[in-house]
Amino acid sequence: MTANTIEKTPVTLLGLGAMGTALARTWLAAGHPLTVWNRTPASAEALAPEGAKVADTAAEAVAASTLVIVCLLDDASVETALDGVDLTGKDLVNLTTTTPAQARTRAAWAEERGARYLDGGIMAVPPMVGIPEAGGYVFYSGSRELFELHRESLAVPVNTTYVGEDAGFAALHDVALLSAMYGMFAGASHAFALIREEDIDPVAFAPLLGDWIRAMVGPGVDGTARRLASGDHDDTDSNLAMQVAGTPTFLATAEGQGVSPELVLPYFELMRRGLEANSAGQEATSLVDLLVRKG
Ligand code: NDP
Repeated sequence: MTANTIEKTPVTLLGLGAMGTALARTWLAAGHPLTVWNRTPASAEALAPEGAKVADTAAEAVAASTLVIVCLLDDASVETALDGVDLTGKDLVNLTTTTPAQARTRAAWAEERGARYLDGGIMAVPPMVGIPEAGGYVFYSGSRELFELHRESLAVPVNTTYVGEDAGFAALHDVALLSAMYGMFAGASHAFALIREEDIDPVAFAPLLGDWIRAMVGPGVDGTARRLASGDHDDTDSNLAMQVAGTPTFLATAEGQGVSPELVLPYFELMRRGLEANSAGQEATSLVDLLVRKG
């Protein structure tokens, strides 16, 4: 053991899929003593030459360190892997993607078993792990004390962003951002479909599309947030009435290009509902409240 490893917090990691393996390598490279366990032992054994201690069981791995990181497929696999394992006195950090409700239940479950709990939502893909410039990070929520205690070790693979004591908030932030991503992918897919059968090079089209999305999304989300905070949705720049009036042009263009409007129709329908519900001069930001099911 080098002087470097003596000073670093020992870490146990359960789960060596694509993400777990990427995380593991960064802790090993940073000199943290690392104990690993994986349901299929081969993935754990592959890390032994890099310095990982391989545990035969999840219980043995958990017993090896106070800080226990879990990065498994889903909440059910966490339940299975930790079934009957003694968590007394452990600091459990669950990076498995779950719903906010599952995260809150898992926090209570861990606390009943004598562990402190922190939930995480990973905003990175494996190639971004260990490369700070790649911009990845993990949302953390749950015990702030626990987060502060382990902040340095947790920041080894990717940056950290703490979002609150509510254990469900990391998952909620994670899913909210990814949901926005899917909406963006939907729009980009529709755009590429519109040009697909024409003599337009998609490679030349891509930067136009990317720049446009960036120009719209950045100021767009800031404006939405300000309007939601103030409750003032009146605007003269790009009001809802103007946008709804434009939708037949979009639908006719899709029809003319032989493209299914299935990805854009739901938003157009929401705008139409919004126009019915609100005054004509309102911004599309007022649509957010139409999506929320009250009660
Ligand atoms: P993988 O599919 O590569 O690995 C899944 C891991 O879960 C493996 O270690 C697998 O073990 C284990 N596992 C599955 N079912 C069980 C079970 N019933 N009992 C015990 N272990 C089980 O997934 P990733 O590593 O990519 O993802 C892990 C988590 O990270 C997920 O929650 C994912 O949403 C999240 N994440 C992943 C990202 C990515 O791009 N990869 C990005 C952001 C978040 P075995 O090897 O035996 O199958």
